[in-house]
Amino acid sequence: MAAVDAGRDDFAADLGAAVSIDSATENLAGVRQMGDLFARQLTELGFDSRFVPLPASTGRAGHLVAEHRGTKGKRVLLIGHLDTVFPGANFKREGDQVSGAGVADMKGGDVVLIHALRALHRTGLLADTQIIVVMSGDEEAPGNPIEVTRRELLEAAKSSDLALAFESAIGKTGTVARRGNATWTLEVQGATGHSSGMFSAAMGSGSVFETARILSGFYEQLRPLDGITINPALVAGGVTAELTRTGGTVSGKANIIPQRTLVRGDLRYLSAAQLAEARVRMEAVVRKNLPRTSAELKFLDDAYPAMAPTPENYALLAQLSQASRDLGYGEITAFDPRGRGAGDIAFVSPPLPGLDGLGLGGKGEHTIHESADLSTAPELVKRAALLIYRLTR
Ligand SMILES: [Zn+2]
Repeated sequence: MAAVDAGRDDFAADLGAAVSIDSATENLAGVRQMGDLFARQLTELGFDSRFVPLPASTGRAGHLVAEHRGTKGKRVLLIGHLDTVFPGANFKREGDQVSGAGVADMKGGDVVLIHALRALHRTGLLADTQIIVVMSGDEEAPGNPIEVTRRELLEAAKSSDLALAFESAIGKTGTVARRGNATWTLEVQGATGHSSGMFSAAMGSGSVFETARILSGFYEQLRPLDGITINPALVAGGVTAELTRTGGTVSGKANIIPQRTLVRGDLRYLSAAQLAEARVRMEAVVRKNLPRTSAELKFLDDAYPAMAPTPENYALLAQLSQASRDLGYGEITAFDPRGRGAGDIAFVSPPLPGLDGLGLGGKGEHTIHESADLSTAPELVKRAALLIYRLTR
């Protein structure tokens, strides 16, 4: 704890240096520079650090992977990320209040991770521990295919016993579950002709009524499933209709039956089993077509897995809570997964026991008004250091 306190002044300087590098996901040179800075800091602690570039076809920079080799206690995987949603290099500090891209999500968390390891290193407690640090360069907008862009993370998980992630802390809570999300599209076809023929045997019901039936069915079928949300975000229907990721076009007239309707949305879920259940229910709704219509539901291959709330994750949370109480900071409880977006830890937990939310808490993540309070940093670094120390005995 004294070693953490000794590094207290360095925290603001280290965070400032990190935020002063613009590392928005699409800024490949900036992400690389960010990775190189943290790599140097981890190398000083005895880690074997390298930046692993991704193929140019993914449009993403790559990841920092650093390994400390040893045989003592549990093999720990520590997860951070290098990229930010908004372009950065806009660090500001007034007393303990700091702002800028990534102060909380998650350069602040990366610095908490490094400071915890540094305190253990300075007191000789890192000796003979087995720890891998992986910081993705594309957490905020993962490159495809996922098998390629998450290969290093999945490899590191194979030689680890548990995972700790340093996304921003939310009050006195730890994250034992995060919802996954997937994008889906619906394409509905109907007959078209003069609107006076609506409901006739020849014209049927049109694509818009069929789409309304299907969406209403999704609402009825998925709403009772606790932890699931579905959002039909974009709808385009008419004689012609086109949709992209962010918009669309339609044409038609009030007296023509619409023949084509497209819908695009997302689905969020607590576990792979829940995703499967939702898909079965959605398919069943889609199949009961109104007369003279057809519909096809597709899930895109961008699905982000869920971090399921397993007993092993709760056991890790109990260890964090114990560390916090022993330090005089009080109990840590589980955060409601419905309130958190997807995160990299979900790629490795399950199967690994995992705990997230160990980083610097903040306000306005994923906005241009991101800020954090440095006065909370010593508590976060101390409890992380103590937890890692106990896990690696
Ligand atoms: Zn993040």
